[in-house]
Amino acid sequence: MDNYQIADSFSLLAKLTDVHGENSFKAKSYASAAFTIEKLPIQLNETAHEKIFSIKGIGESTGKKIIELLETGSLKSLEEMIDKTPPGVMELLNIKGIGPKKIATIWKEMEIESVGELLYACKENRLKLYKGFGEKTQQNVIETIEFYLKSKGSFLFSQINLLAETTKSFFEKIFFTKKIAFTGAYKRQVEIVNELQLVINDTTENIENKLSSVPDFELIEKNQHDLLYRAAVGLKIRLYGCDDMPFMQEVFFKNCSGEFGEAFAKQYQDIDYANCENEEAIFSAANLNYIPASQRESVSVISTAKQGPLPALLQVADIKGIIHSHSNWSDGNYTIEEMAKAAIEKGFEYLVISDHSKSAFYANGLDEGRIKEQHIYISELNKQVAPFKIFKSIESDILNDGSLDYSTAILSTFDLVIASVHSNLKMTEEKAMMRLINAIENPYTTILGHMTGRLLLSRKGYPVDHKKIIDACAANNVVIELNAHPSRLDIDWRHIDYALEKNVLISIDPDAHALDGFDDILYGVLVAQKAMVVKENNLSSFGLKEFEAFLLRNKDLKASN
Ligand SMILES: [Zn+2]
Ligand SMILES: [Zn+2]
Repeated sequence: MDNYQIADSFSLLAKLTDVHGENSFKAKSYASAAFTIEKLPIQLNETAHEKIFSIKGIGESTGKKIIELLETGSLKSLEEMIDKTPPGVMELLNIKGIGPKKIATIWKEMEIESVGELLYACKENRLKLYKGFGEKTQQNVIETIEFYLKSKGSFLFSQINLLAETTKSFFEKIFFTKKIAFTGAYKRQVEIVNELQLVINDTTENIENKLSSVPDFELIEKNQHDLLYRAAVGLKIRLYGCDDMPFMQEVFFKNCSGEFGEAFAKQYQDIDYANCENEEAIFSAANLNYIPASQRESVSVISTAKQGPLPALLQVADIKGIIHSHSNWSDGNYTIEEMAKAAIEKGFEYLVISDHSKSAFYANGLDEGRIKEQHIYISELNKQVAPFKIFKSIESDILNDGSLDYSTAILSTFDLVIASVHSNLKMTEEKAMMRLINAIENPYTTILGHMTGRLLLSRKGYPVDHKKIIDACAANNVVIELNAHPSRLDIDWRHIDYALEKNVLISIDPDAHALDGFDDILYGVLVAQKAMVVKENNLSSFGLKEFEAFLLRNKDLKASN
């Protein structure tokens, strides 16, 4: 162990002492020990132990710790400190620009335990509400984290989506061909993409040769028929060559999940792929109704397609209203009027304003008085924006016991209520189910917001029994949100088929905190396509009249329950 490693241990100990809010005098002395050790002209591992104590700037307790490090390779007090720090909080120490004292606030006061959660909180404008965190710090933190995450290698679908087309046209230029196609997780619209995959109509050898002189493309894995590169932004790109299979055959099978591809190959053995211009041609050669790549997950879809054409894919244009949005009354960036005007411009028929409720103090949640004010304001605004309509809603916190945030007298004043968990996210399945089921059974709950609280790539979400929740929603006429924020996409599309089977409505909601949040609807739609959601299953596809009728009918149904 050299001086640098010893200094690193002291420096980490100093930071963690501050993170845990322990004796700040101690933290300072560890930090200065780290500084001293790093600058020493002699190597401590070559110094006699008793001489260590006489080095200037190293006292008794520092000296003992150095010897412990040299003899055992670790420091007990440091190990203990690491043990009581969640791994996500440890990771926060890597983010430049937020020191340990700020991390302490982020962790203890904001209950944020990972880099991804912190990024999300910044984007929801929550960081700047705390002492010592200004707008500028917030912006800096966003930039640093985004860079940090990119360099780690896993991407949200939405991030890949921004890079995909430029990457493809770059390859088209290099290989002088249009016969280049996206495949894999990106093509199948899966929510997390670890590598962008493309099939190129050339041999693997040629691909390697052509790319060998391209700067910023580092070859990190080489297989018989594919090459994995790391591009400058940290994105991994896998390129499949066409060595012994026709281009369309490569594309088709790479666009299927493993089980789907196997089953298809077994059932349809004599397809002449070389004669197929596109994937549609492959399906007609198989005499099977077309199955889009996004739906080639489980084998069962093959039998569905045998029975008849699959329903038309839901499109962004099928979304008629913005359900779930936040204005500057709570933690949004824009006024309700600005949100409404932007929604009108984009062709939506209505906007559901669902600011945070009073328990969400960090998000400037609305108390009873402000709710009344907001309702008066929305009624006035509605006169100006008609026939467009703004609905009075709230994203009511599901409290610890599963109750909602307001009395029934207040809850009854909303057009609809979205119920979501925002606090105490760390809980057992039993506790989570108790809170959620209670909230679902509340006669004022219209929509269950982001079911598991997950933040993709950063927070797992609390454990739930999806079937039981869906059953409860069916029994209580509660709609399940498909939160379209690209970090949420919650309910997970893998559970939607059961909801549809139980006739539970889904609602693709952008949870917009700013005007550009409306664009997130795309990501909700793409995963909804995977689950074969159609207009009739999706509340936000209801036109204004239908939506109003739904709200009335829903209230009646709940009243008669
Ligand atoms: Zn929420
Ligand atoms: Zn929200």
